[in-house]
Amino acid sequence: MEIQLLEMEETKGSFILKNSSPAMANALRRTMLSDIPKMAIDKVEFHLGPIMVDEREYESVTPLFDEIVAHRLGMVPVPTDHQLFSFQEGCFCGGEGCPSCTIMYSLNKIGPCTVLSGDMIPLGNPKLMVKDQFIPIVELTDGQAVLIYATAIMGTAKKHAKWQAAFGVGYKYLPKVSIDEKKAGDSYALKCMNVCPKGVFEVKNGKLKLKDQMNCNMCRECETVSRGSVSVDADDTNFYFKYETDGSLTAKQVLDKAMEILSKQSEAAFAGIDAI
Ligand SMILES: [Zn+2]
Repeated sequence: MEIQLLEMEETKGSFILKNSSPAMANALRRTMLSDIPKMAIDKVEFHLGPIMVDEREYESVTPLFDEIVAHRLGMVPVPTDHQLFSFQEGCFCGGEGCPSCTIMYSLNKIGPCTVLSGDMIPLGNPKLMVKDQFIPIVELTDGQAVLIYATAIMGTAKKHAKWQAAFGVGYKYLPKVSIDEKKAGDSYALKCMNVCPKGVFEVKNGKLKLKDQMNCNMCRECETVSRGSVSVDADDTNFYFKYETDGSLTAKQVLDKAMEILSKQSEAAFAGIDAI
């Protein structure tokens, strides 16, 4: 099994999983979706009572229920560094919360304004500012204010979607489109090129040629119009993957972590079989 990287940007990536099997491709998809640990806000404390700013009294209230504000804060992607943070359960602090397993944010705003994710100030390390600064949380009118302390901890999407790092993880069997030069009459070339919704073909010197085989979605319309001179097959040993992340981890970090987790799980499974 090997991986050929095609595109690795900050929050989206694509690659080909080579010499593998449908079972392994699906295991990789599920691992990327639900097993990648990331930080997310899990506890939110709201200040109650009046808030004094420049000798003016503001009411600590928002147009939304506290639960909704807390939920929105939970869904804000929090930067995650697997070298710096660990699960609270396995931390040396015994789960009480320390700089190795928690990130504390303060949010202090007075109205009128729109409270944004970028208003969350990390206590301690300024590098832990959220990357996506413009996610609206709540709108405050004149006289309203919020003072919030939010704590982020490590988790996985098995427990809640706020700990889901990768999104839209999808794969397809690598398409194999072949053109039988002997059968492919010139009259079918243009028909094939035009009928394909994904621009897989081109016509050069009157001959049908492959332009972008990877784009094929296996609709097989080309097989119909070419009357057998073009055939489309799916390769069940090579898989084209495409995915995005929420920004808490980069696309490369998600893939690396998924491979690390799968590798550890395989080793543990083999160890278990040996033990039996
Ligand atoms: Zn700790």
